[in-house]
Amino acid sequence: MPSCGSCQVKWTWRQTMEAGMTPGSAWECPHCGETQFRTKRTHALSAAWTILIGSALIIGSVLIEVPWWLFAPLVVAVVTGAVLGAPWLASVQSSDPDLLDEQMEHRGKDPQS
Ligand SMILES: [Zn+2]
Repeated sequence: MPSCGSCQVKWTWRQTMEAGMTPGSAWECPHCGETQFRTKRTHALSAAWTILIGSALIIGSVLIEVPWWLFAPLVVAVVTGAVLGAPWLASVQSSDPDLLDEQMEHRGKDPQS
């Protein structure tokens, strides 16, 4: 679960889920109201998480000949588990990761600084 970069208070599972429902990578801290940004790590982890669950389901359905009446609730259970488990992978930071990247790039291009 992520903890706020400004007030250091750890977000609850529910608060993280609610933040995750809002579009974009900027989340408002439920404790201090400061804007927090989803880290690049969170972004990469959630993508990897989705791919992992997706491919596990596809490979599973190909390798094991599970009847559809068993497979359908299995898919629902796995997807639900993946969604409910996602907040544990999330982390936030006070600064915008995209903005930081831009600054880094800028510094790299300018030999004077
Ligand atoms: Zn906070």
